[in-house]
Amino acid sequence: MDFNLTSEQQQLQDAAIRLSQGRLMPWLAEHPADQPLPKSAMLKILGALAEFGLTGARVPVEGGGSGLGALDYALVFEQLPPVIAVALIAHEGTASRLYASGAAQTFPEIFESLIAGTRIACTASTEPTTGSDPRSIKLKFTASDDPQQMLISGTKQWITNGTIADIALVTGKSDESGELLRVMVERSVSPYVAAEIPCVGLRQGHLSELNFSQVPVPRANALGNDNSTMKTLTQAWLINRPLFGLLALTAARRARDIALEHVKGRVQFGAPLARKQLVQEALVDIDASIQSARLLCLSALHAADQGSATQAQSAMAKRQGVSVAEKAASIAMRLCGGMGLATETGIERETRDIKMFTIPDGTYEILTLIAGREITGESAL
Ligand SMILES: Cc1cc2nc3c(=O)[nH]c(=O)nc-3n(C[C@H](O)[C@H](O)[C@H](O)COP(=O)(O)OP(=O)(O)OC[C@H]3O[C@@H](n4cnc5c(N)ncnc54)[C@H](O)[C@@H]3O)c2cc1C
Repeated sequence: MDFNLTSEQQQLQDAAIRLSQGRLMPWLAEHPADQPLPKSAMLKILGALAEFGLTGARVPVEGGGSGLGALDYALVFEQLPPVIAVALIAHEGTASRLYASGAAQTFPEIFESLIAGTRIACTASTEPTTGSDPRSIKLKFTASDDPQQMLISGTKQWITNGTIADIALVTGKSDESGELLRVMVERSVSPYVAAEIPCVGLRQGHLSELNFSQVPVPRANALGNDNSTMKTLTQAWLINRPLFGLLALTAARRARDIALEHVKGRVQFGAPLARKQLVQEALVDIDASIQSARLLCLSALHAADQGSATQAQSAMAKRQGVSVAEKAASIAMRLCGGMGLATETGIERETRDIKMFTIPDGTYEILTLIAGREITGESAL
């Protein structure tokens, strides 16, 4: 087993660090830290990510993407500012779902614009009454007077990129057949109402509610039925879950770095806090837990590249990554004393952002039940 990066992976990671520190972070700093970025800023960011092949990371090269393996993608992904990484996973994940449904042929102009980062995409599954159980979706596609169209009625909630997206991949039930359908909705053609939901973290991002009130959409935009909908979702989870684990761990690592600097400089009881045994133990606990959880996430992604990943493995990776990150960031905050609570120190922002990763693509309980089902062969869901 080789834990070293190949020279290509090292170059990829170095380039991602340069992109992040040289361009993305300064662009974010031009905007208020606690308000959603303007759409123009997100388009500029997606343009830069497109140059890097990240907007089509999971789309194969023959489809116009960069066909990055899951592990290589993760090495880049974990270097991105979290608010950008979350917008990217929603955008790029939607592009790869559209590709898997044949959209590169059916809607070439739209698909190419998503890969180029000139249009923004989101995937809208969750609803006010449909969260962890995606099969209980209520949004309806009903017949229209125009036989070429359907009407969309319902509400989607907690949709990343929702207010700024040009293209929404919307899941709902066909009133005619009762099937689950995924439909590509172009906002300029099928105008719906979108509003931001202010949240605890990732405040420069966009987490939105979408309202569809008898919104017409061409029937030709329907992409798939029940089986392909669930298959596409579960395939995406194999990779998304460890990626969310890594994002949380990267934020925890930044909190740890801040705490380490603090305890080296802060003198109490006649010596730097870094010289106190309990402080050293806390730092060792943080490092050991972050490093082991990161390896679990990377091994789940490696398994995805080998075609041997299981839902339990990816669920455990996110569960471990996020819960370790929550605990590590909280200890790092405590090590800074009162300064840990001050916004200027930066740890409170990391802890708020980590909270945001606890929910999407599986809560702690749901991830536990997914892994438990595979271990025991019994479903407790
Ligand atoms: C930052 C962020 C980004 C998101 N992005 C998107 C997106 O782009 N597109 C999209 O469609 N959705 C998105 N979501 C929505 C997300 O997928 C849902 O919030 C998630 O599936 C949980 O659903 P819920 O919030 O309705 O919680 P619920 O399902 O109502 O769960 C509430 C609580 O009950 C627990 N629970 C549920 N069922 C069980 C059970 N059987 N046994 C024990 N405990 C249980 C859960 O673990 C949780 O603690 C996003 C959410 C967040 C926070």
